[in-house]
Amino acid sequence: MKSIVLKLLRENYPDYTSGEEICKNLGVSRTAIWKHVQALRAKGYDIESQTKSGYRLLAVPDRLYPEEIYSGLETVTLGRNIYYLDSTSSTNHVARELAAGGAPEGTLVVAEAQAGGRGRMSRGWYSPHALDVLCSLILRPELPPAEAPPVTMLAAVALARAVKDISGIKAGIKWPNDLLVNGKKLCGILSEMNAEMERVNFLVVGMGVNVNTERFPEELSEIATSLKIESGAFVSRRLLLQKMLYQFEQLYGLWLARGFKPVLAEWKENCVTLNCPVRVISARETLEGWAEDVDDTGALLLRLPDGSLKQLLAGDVSLRTG
Ligand code: ATP
Repeated sequence: MKSIVLKLLRENYPDYTSGEEICKNLGVSRTAIWKHVQALRAKGYDIESQTKSGYRLLAVPDRLYPEEIYSGLETVTLGRNIYYLDSTSSTNHVARELAAGGAPEGTLVVAEAQAGGRGRMSRGWYSPHALDVLCSLILRPELPPAEAPPVTMLAAVALARAVKDISGIKAGIKWPNDLLVNGKKLCGILSEMNAEMERVNFLVVGMGVNVNTERFPEELSEIATSLKIESGAFVSRRLLLQKMLYQFEQLYGLWLARGFKPVLAEWKENCVTLNCPVRVISARETLEGWAEDVDDTGALLLRLPDGSLKQLLAGDVSLRTG
């Protein structure tokens, strides 16, 4: 009911919607409408009421409420079923549980803050409340498990397109799972898979984008950045998320229809850690070499000093340039 009231106010924005019109649409009393308006106000919606004219929407809160994301969303499947949390331990964790319970493809878990957000190898992800985009997307591609890992690269391309579109900033992709601006981390991506031998049950693609954070804890200040820091302007998280979902859907369709090559080509164009010397650090060893290429599975092809070529899978290594 609340969302129908909101939809009516939005449709008539910036004009008033009469109490009578809302009553007719919902088939409830004026007192009930007033209660819904109060509930919307409690969520941060600024709604003016006038005895004669009715209700008028003045401002919407800077929150990633599902109604906000649905309004203006241009996708067919992705983000059409949103699970919103003010705070959570990890959106990937929630998404995994929802997916295991049968949540459909395109389901999006979005949170204003994440207490136990993880990067790869269980590293922490810093996320102050209601400033950034923290979300996880559930996908159910009909693919064998071996063909699924490049979804992380697809997410990076989708995010890079959305970031460019909304802020004009050209973010570079760092293999395997980050977006960088001026050498600092803007986004992190963490994909997880649930599969049987022959087929993927579901993928969860977690994305953390630093949007309006202006100050990071000291240990991150040299390595992290945000769109606000880079552009000097406030960026709408809602618009960024909508654009990312749209771009993701385009690329995902392309991947399933024509294979990963076209997406990989764009990924390579945006990659800033290819054709340069790199250090690759894993729990077991540190390798130095030349980042020569990335193959169709998303593995890094590292040319070692002895001339041999080593294929490195994403997931258990960190990469450093310079
Ligand atoms: P690395 O960045 O060390 O190569 P990685 O890409 O594997 O490793 P992830 O595991 O994806 O990193 O992300 C976790 C790391 O990101 C943390 O160890 C921390 O250094 C950094 N980090 C944590 N929160 C943020 C944030 N909000 N923005 C940018 N970087 C962050």
